[in-house]
Amino acid sequence: MKESTSDTVRKRRHAPARAPQPSPRPGESDSTALILVVDDNPDNLEIISTRLRFRGYDVAMAERGEEAIAKVQEVDPDLILLDIMMPDMDGYEVARRIRARNDLAYIPIIVVTARDSTEDKVTGLDAGADDYLTKPINFPELEARVRSMLRIKRLQDQLEEKNRELEQLSIRDGLTGLFNHRHMHELLADEYERSRRTTEPVSVVMFDLDRFKEVNDTYGHQAGDRVLEELAEILRESAREIDKLGRYGGEEFMVILPDTDREAGITFAERVRDMVEKQRFDIQAREPLRMTVSAGVSSYPDDKADSPRRLVHYADLALYSAKKTGRNRVVSYTPDLADS
Ligand code: GH3
Ligand code: MG
Ligand code: MG
Repeated sequence: MKESTSDTVRKRRHAPARAPQPSPRPGESDSTALILVVDDNPDNLEIISTRLRFRGYDVAMAERGEEAIAKVQEVDPDLILLDIMMPDMDGYEVARRIRARNDLAYIPIIVVTARDSTEDKVTGLDAGADDYLTKPINFPELEARVRSMLRIKRLQDQLEEKNRELEQLSIRDGLTGLFNHRHMHELLADEYERSRRTTEPVSVVMFDLDRFKEVNDTYGHQAGDRVLEELAEILRESAREIDKLGRYGGEEFMVILPDTDREAGITFAERVRDMVEKQRFDIQAREPLRMTVSAGVSSYPDDKADSPRRLVHYADLALYSAKKTGRNRVVSYTPDLADS
């Protein structure tokens, strides 16, 4: 048996890349499904695969346990038909290893084997198989079980997709798509902890648009929203991949800069301040709007903040100072700000 099954196998990454398909009704075959058939006997492999292809499924094949595990990663199947008795690594072990991988989406496994003692079935199911079929294969039964497992797989995929959507909704701000206040605090707790362990610095920048209320008052709330969206875009353009961007509340934005000391934090904040100053905010009015932003910077360990909360507080004090001393400027925390 040749390795190559690429004519029928669609290369796919992990489940998230795929939009979940609508579930087929009971009795209908799910012809968008890809089934991985694992059997050390080339004749069995051929017979089962031919039958499944005839039913409209895509089929990938593997003759050895190691090969099966590699194929699972390579083709991301919707279902695995798994022989038990194989040289090198038996099907129980294959099932165990696939189940041990929590980076993989759930993939139903039907064990197909000549061994039909209760003990074998128990071992197979305990190893992570979802169903059990004995040889010689009764094809109508095999097909019915395949359909049933694929229905479960589809529901599972839909559930995972929904969970991912809900997770995104729960950590992001609806207007700008940046992280929300709560999630920024979670991220900062992690970054602060990481910084404490590794002694790599972390900086926090608080941005607040200057005289933003006037935008709402003069041009309306929607114009204000457009400005907030454009500021978020400027932040995305200015930040590195590892920086964490959040809408802290209202017209206040927070950026966490890992591996960044105070000086570099100031440089970043200054760059954003400059970009905002130069930006023509398109608010669908006759004239594009000019805005400015103030920023407060704090940094660990430079500012000796003893908690992430305090680090945020220091950035707030610096921001407040920037507002007080004329706006459109960046101020970094210094201990004397606390008394002012
Ligand atoms: P300062 O320079 O001192 O920061 O003045 P400011 O006007 O920017 O600050 P202030 O805190 O007085 O006003 C903030 C305004 O932001 C008031 C509020 O209506 C507006 N705002 C808060 N959230 C939103 C939002 O989601 N959309 C819009 N359009 N406006 C918002
Ligand atoms: Mg403001
Ligand atoms: Mg404000």
